[in-house]
Amino acid sequence: MHRLSTRIKIGGKKIGLVPTMGFLHYGHLSLIKKSKQQADVTIVSIFVNPTQFSPTEDLDKYPRDLDRDKKLLSANGVDYLFYPDASEIYSHNYQTFVDVTNISSTLEGKFRPAHFKGVATIVSILFNSISPDYVYFGQKDAQQVAVIKQMVKDLKYNLKIIVCPIIRETDGLAMSSRNVYLSDNERKDALVLSRSLKLAEKLVKEGERIPDIIISQMINEINSVDSSKIDYVEIVDAENFLVPDNLIEGKRYLALIACRIGNTRLIDNTFLKVS
Ligand code: AMP
Repeated sequence: MHRLSTRIKIGGKKIGLVPTMGFLHYGHLSLIKKSKQQADVTIVSIFVNPTQFSPTEDLDKYPRDLDRDKKLLSANGVDYLFYPDASEIYSHNYQTFVDVTNISSTLEGKFRPAHFKGVATIVSILFNSISPDYVYFGQKDAQQVAVIKQMVKDLKYNLKIIVCPIIRETDGLAMSSRNVYLSDNERKDALVLSRSLKLAEKLVKEGERIPDIIISQMINEINSVDSSKIDYVEIVDAENFLVPDNLIEGKRYLALIACRIGNTRLIDNTFLKVS
């Protein structure tokens, strides 16, 4: 990978990287499309990163279909697939981890304590292996974006992070590789996430400025579905992920949800613009 990226760079070309865990959908393809527009060479990585899963999570059953992914990558004009084996990334006696402290400790970090340490570590390894000029992430994983941006700033990576909007199914469900876990009934129930985010947007539009009131209405909406079990519903300042007392004119906030539908853990979010 080093030899290839050096050759590309000596040729004066810009590398766009799209890091993924595979089982590709239109969300991933939107990132690839953006990279194709901006970069000269697009590299997609597929790596189901063991260090970002806790022992009780779905590492072993995470959906995988490399043949299908390869066809999608070719059809969408991707130049290279980086598909390392876990033993190449985490060789025997591996010891080094990247920990982005504060921003990793809230929300997802509370429910998945080692998750962002695993994410920051693998993303850092990908940056070091590929030396991309542009790296594309989805707003679907809003806190991940904040963690990676902080890491890039702190560790002085010479690259640009480009954040792409959430791609949804026509009925509003945010696309996710994990959606295949949902039964037909759960698939319907899962719409409660996007529905409660829409409710938050509506309340803000109508003038509600107290986060707790918005959150409690979102929680009521989600709890109206029997198969749901909330991890968190939160509103944070979109810049620093701090929890506001009140929503202030001109600022941008994020409403975020993590919720189980049956056994499937889903996350979703939306920007709340106060104007
Ligand atoms: P994953 O394979 O789930 O690790 O996702 C790889 C990248 O695709 C991450 O940057 C995600 O945020 C992004 N992504 C996943 N789902 C979506 C979506 N529905 N819309 C936009 N980006 C997404």
